[in-house]
Order: sequence, then C-alpha cells, then structure tokens
Amino acid sequence: MRTSLLLTCVLLVAADSSTQPAVPRPPIVSAKEWGSTPQPIPESRKQTPKWITIHHAGVLWEAKTTPDKFVKNMQVWGQKDKNWPDLPYHFLIAPDGRIFEGRPIEYEPESNTKYELQGNIGVEMMGSFEAQRPSREQLRSCVALVAWLASEYRIDPDHIRGHRDAALGQTTCPGRDFYRYLEDGQFRRWVSETINGASPNIEPGPALSNGPSTNISEWPTTKPAS
Ligand SMILES: [Zn+2]
Repeated sequence: MRTSLLLTCVLLVAADSSTQPAVPRPPIVSAKEWGSTPQPIPESRKQTPKWITIHHAGVLWEAKTTPDKFVKNMQVWGQKDKNWPDLPYHFLIAPDGRIFEGRPIEYEPESNTKYELQGNIGVEMMGSFEAQRPSREQLRSCVALVAWLASEYRIDPDHIRGHRDAALGQTTCPGRDFYRYLEDGQFRRWVSETINGASPNIEPGPALSNGPSTNISEWPTTKPAS
C-alpha cells in the first residue's frame, strides 16, 4: 500500500516536470554589475507582464562605445532629458550577444510613442535594423531571453510582438531586418521550439532584397577622435 502511494507521487512529479520543462535563464549582466543608478519608480506603475515587446535602439551601432557604457548613457540621458527614473527597457542586448538588465520587470516600461505600457516587458537590441543586420549572437540571445521570459511569466508566444505592432503607424521599430522574423513567424517558432526543449538552429539567413546587407558585427568601426 505504502509503496504504491509513493510510486503514484513519483509518477505525478515526473508527469508534471515533463509537461513543463524548465527553460534556463540565460546569463544576464545585472544592473548592479554595469553600475546602474536607478531612481525610485512609483507604485502606481507596477505591472503584471502580458506582452514581450521587441525593440531596436534605432541608432547605428558603430562601436564608438562599449555596451555597458551605452546602457549607462541611455539611463543618464533618460533621467535628465525625459524624466524617466530608470531605463525605458527591461533588457538590452549587445551586438556580441551579452544581455544587460535594465528596469525591473515589475514596473511598466517607458516609450516615446503612445500605447498601453502596462503589461509589457521591453527587450531592446543595440543597433539600427533599418540599416544593419542583427548578429547571430544577438538573435540567439534574444530567442533565449524571450523563451525564458515567456516560460517564467506564462506569456503565450502569440503575445511576442514588435514595437510597431503595439504603436501602430508611429514607428518602424524594431527595424525591417528584425521585423521580418516577427512577420513570417520565424521568431515565435524559434521561441516555441526552445520552450519545448529543442535547440533550433538560429541563423540570420539571407539579406532581404531591399534591406540592409551588412551585419552589425562587421560594421566599420568609427573610432572617437582622440
Ligand atoms: Zn521600439
């Protein structure tokens, strides 16, 4: 009797873990590690995540600065010029694939466009995908991060979208060379496969016929004047 009860418990645990495989949290450079200096965010701006909204920086990545300084500069600019207490995004992904922690997920993001900010996790990639192509490392980190977030917060892959889908007619963000993966469903497929425990082969693929042709990792570096 006791043995069968124990066996039932083991089987239940096994069944539960097989239907909900844990998606690993990718390595993330914490806000503390890159020297974040956030200001307090009002309680009224707390949120429950329902969407994962993807952005590009919208400015060319020319490697004039390091990704950690880029993140810090954005925080300082937002606090000074926009009165934003912290970064507008929750995560920022560098061309080398490193993920930086931004604003805490429990608070809604900021935006220069008008849409319902409540419930959004904002994931930004450095670069302008109107003029540059994302690196393979950036794409792979973005899929790994979004798969983990979707699993952790129980967000359906149908609720992964580009900024332009949220703020209709107001922006081209995340740029046409990234938006293509959202438009044709490829990005959501990579995310769903990752959530289901597969390891999809994530490659940027060929350039769009009228789109950018140079990968951000091969972009000519403009050194700052010394
Ligand atoms: Zn955006």
